[in-house]
Amino acid sequence: MDLKLRPNLVNLLLAFGALFLITGCFCSSSREPEVEQPDVYIDESNTAASNKTLAPAPSAPKQDEGDFIVEHLEIETPRYKEIDRQVKEAKLLENAADKLNQAFALPRNIYLRTKDCKEVNAFYDTNDASVTMCYELMEDLYRTFKKSGISDDQAYRKMNDAVRFVFLHEIAHALIDQYKLPVAGNEEDAADRCSAYINLKELGDEGLRAVYAASDAFAIESKQGDNRERSLADEHLLQEQRFYNSLCMIYGSDPKKHQTIVDKGYLPKERATRCQWEYQRAVDSWIKLLEPWRKN
Ligand SMILES: [Zn+2]
Repeated sequence: MDLKLRPNLVNLLLAFGALFLITGCFCSSSREPEVEQPDVYIDESNTAASNKTLAPAPSAPKQDEGDFIVEHLEIETPRYKEIDRQVKEAKLLENAADKLNQAFALPRNIYLRTKDCKEVNAFYDTNDASVTMCYELMEDLYRTFKKSGISDDQAYRKMNDAVRFVFLHEIAHALIDQYKLPVAGNEEDAADRCSAYINLKELGDEGLRAVYAASDAFAIESKQGDNRERSLADEHLLQEQRFYNSLCMIYGSDPKKHQTIVDKGYLPKERATRCQWEYQRAVDSWIKLLEPWRKN
């Protein structure tokens, strides 16, 4: 897909706008798709927003010695130049940085970037404390969804939603690193849980769509027969596990509302019985970890 030729590029910008307007906590996959759509994106009509707030403001936040800062880097890939121009013009990253800076004290600057990376990726770089969303990853997600057999518009919407999940996953890495948060387990899983927590608890319908889109991407990618040994050795959980974990977080956030996930067999009952506890544990943990750094 050539992003600059998409007629509904504005959808992407709107998705970014929603993404970067988050005021709460802020918190890679890449492979060739195919296979049928797992169609776990269900119960869409049943997604009332839950705009509960995060933890109460701490009485004495940590010293604020940095900011989220936007950096616009030169785009070398011609087909990404148009979308890059629009992202800059709409000041999407700048708006996100403003909101983040209002919400969190930082021990040093964290840089936010969107750019072409010459690889399908999104990442937090501890060396310069930067979060980068690569246009190649957006393109790859679009192709992943498109090859599952859905329409262009559906694939585009799902790509937008999945990007929100990925961005928050990378922000989680940034916060873990800069706040030196304890992680008693796999950090990739912790970042997934943070992203799911923020999406499900803070972002209403958009957040729910983001976690569903991510779970769909995990499911599709899990069926692509990638190098099994490499996958097993990877620091990320297997895509199958990320798929079930995402569904577990969705179900656990409101079992009654999302009962269809279990009824249709997407999530085994044996796992589902634990999900409400798992979700609440993730929420409570992230609230507690971030509380000392919150400004309001
Ligand atoms: Zn990660």
